[in-house]
Parts: sequence; structure tokens; C-alpha cells
Amino acid sequence: TDPVLEIRGLDVDYGLGDSAVRAVRDINLTLHRGEILGLAGESGSGKSTLAYAVTRLLPPPGVITGGEVRYRPGNGRPAVDILDLGPEELRAFRWQEISLVFQGAMNSLNPVHTVRSQLTDVIAAHRPGASRAARNDRAAELLSLVGISADRLGSYPHQLSGGMRQRVMIAMALALEPEIVLLDEPTTALDVVMQRQILRQLVRLREELGFSVVFITHDISLLLEFSDRVAVMYGGRIVEEAGAKEIYRDARHPYSHGLLHSFPALHGPRRELTGIPGSPPDLKSMPSGCAFHPRCPKAFDPCATRVPALAPAPAGDRSVACWLHTEHEHGSGDS
Ligand code: ATP
Ligand code: SF4
Ligand code: MG
Repeated sequence: TDPVLEIRGLDVDYGLGDSAVRAVRDINLTLHRGEILGLAGESGSGKSTLAYAVTRLLPPPGVITGGEVRYRPGNGRPAVDILDLGPEELRAFRWQEISLVFQGAMNSLNPVHTVRSQLTDVIAAHRPGASRAARNDRAAELLSLVGISADRLGSYPHQLSGGMRQRVMIAMALALEPEIVLLDEPTTALDVVMQRQILRQLVRLREELGFSVVFITHDISLLLEFSDRVAVMYGGRIVEEAGAKEIYRDARHPYSHGLLHSFPALHGPRRELTGIPGSPPDLKSMPSGCAFHPRCPKAFDPCATRVPALAPAPAGDRSVACWLHTEHEHGSGDS
């Protein structure tokens, strides 16, 4: 394996002191070079917080309170901890090494600037040596990469469909050929056909350009279709991580199982829509032990009092944080 990003022990709070709530807890997650890692979890589970923290774009009152985010650029360049970068280093880092298409990004294009000027601005800010003609050529090339004709360069955002605006955002994210692209609900506002079309384009681009992707979506069928691996979040923690096929076939954590059975199957026999009763935890009063225990149909002795650690499952390349799948479940261990 060739990791490009290693997140270790990452904690993120909103607020300080007594009013602080922990939205992301002890995240350990590895993104491998060239892979698409899908992040799943109900609303409020911490997916966006994780993406913002990793790119150091966390808005106040968000604070990273612990952990490491080690970025390994490859090609012999040294690894860095993103959390140690100063403001200048971060400026060079964003867009060039890692870029984020955030939730609702398609509405964040500047309404008074053309597509051309928004794309060339990103290029100009990081490649000051590039001539005007070179920047224009690159802008046209980027648009065609995401399937938009170059004659749209002169358009203003309101002259484009939602799907096109979203593809312009993806083009901007790819402008400087970053190693990692984080996509937070990149297609949620679009119809299903358009969503698939954009994601297919992205997979093709990944094969051409070789970047890695963290893909966040509520749509479990899209997540399974386009991700190589999937990590499931609950109450700010990762509760299961496995290959997309493995987790679909055989989710081990009761929460992942519920989540993956909350949607109608795309192919094959219809699956029962069991869903998950109850609602996600309140960060201000997180349940003790396994945060899922009040909703878990399988909860037993240790669940209400001891937090199960995310640990590699005995068989297969996956990790689970659940006492049902932890060897020391009867209190002999200290995990
Ligand atoms: P969604 O699927 O709805 O986008 P998410 O998984 O991205 O949800 P986050 O937006 O990361 O979840 O939120 C995680 C938790 O942090 C939630 O409980 C949310 O209420 C809390 N939170 C997010 N932003 C803030 C903020 N600015 N101040 C306080 N709490 C916040
Ligand atoms: Fe359910 Fe217990 Fe597993 Fe939590 S640790 S998911 S409560 S069985
Ligand atoms: Mg979110």
C-alpha cells in the first residue's frame, strides 16, 4: 500500500472551554494513492468537519484539538503534517496539493465574474509565471476535461445549469493537478442522471491524472458504485472501514448494516428497507460506551460502558469498532 494521507488521532471541537462540543473524535484513516474513499454517515456525523479539518479550512468556532494529518506527496518529496503548516505554506498547499469542493460549492462561484476569469484566477495565483495566453488555454482545457465546451468560458455562472456550475467547481479543484481532491456532496443538488455523469467523468479523470479522492455523499448507492473503500462515521467516529464491495456484502457494524439497508438496491433482488430507528446522538450529551448503543438492536453487556476501538477485523482487510467483533469483548483486554 502507498498512503497519500494518514489521519491519526484527529479531534475537532466546535467552541472552547465548557461550551465546546467534540464533532470529530480520534479519527484514524488512511487514503491510498489513486483510490476513491467514500465517507458515509447520517447528517451531523462529522463528515464535513473532517474534510474541512484536513484541508485546514475549518470555519470558527471549529478548532483542531489533537492529532496528525500526514501528507505524503510521493515522487521523493518529504511528508508533511498538514496541521503544522503556517499560513504561507497553506496557501501554496491548497489547490496545488489538496483541493476541496465543499457542500453547496456550485453556489459559491462569483456571480460577477466569467468562468474564464474564475479559472484563470486560480491558475494565476499559483503560477505567476504563466502568460495570459497560457492561462486561457489551461482554462479551456480544464473545462473540456469536465465535459464543457470551451465556448462557455465567457459565460457568467447564472448562464450555466446547476450541473455545469458544479462541473466548473470540479474543474477549479483540478486546475493545479492536486494529489488529493475532497468532494463534499458534490452532486447532491443535481438529478440522478447528471450526478452519475459527473462522477463517471471524475473516475475517468482520476485514471488519467492519478489523483486520490475523498468522496462524501448521503447517497449510499452512489457511494458504493464509485468508491473503492468506504468509511462509515457515527457521532464523530469512524465505526467501520472496508472495501466498498465487502461492506455492501457484509457490513459488520450494526450501524453500517442499518445504513446500507436504508436504501433500495440498484441491482439484484430488492433489499428490505430496515433503516435505523431513533436519531443521531446529540454532541452535547453523547451516550456512554458505544455511542450507537441506545439505537443498536444488538447491544449487550459492554456496550453502554466501554468505547469499542476501531480495530482490524480478524479476517479480511477491514476495521470495525464494535464489541461484537472485538476479541476482548468480555473485559479481558484493555482496548
Ligand atoms: P451533513 O451530512 O448534514 O452534511 P456532516 O456529517 O457533514 O452532516 P458536520 O457538518 O461535520 O456533519 O457536523 C458535525 C457536527 O458538528 C454536527 O453535530 C453539527 O451540529 C456540529 N457543527 C457543525 N458546524 C458547527 C458550528 N459551526 N458550530 C457548532 N457545531 C457545529
Ligand atoms: Fe451495537 Fe454494542 Fe456493537 Fe455498539 S458495540 S454497535 S452497541 S453491538
Ligand atoms: Mg456535511
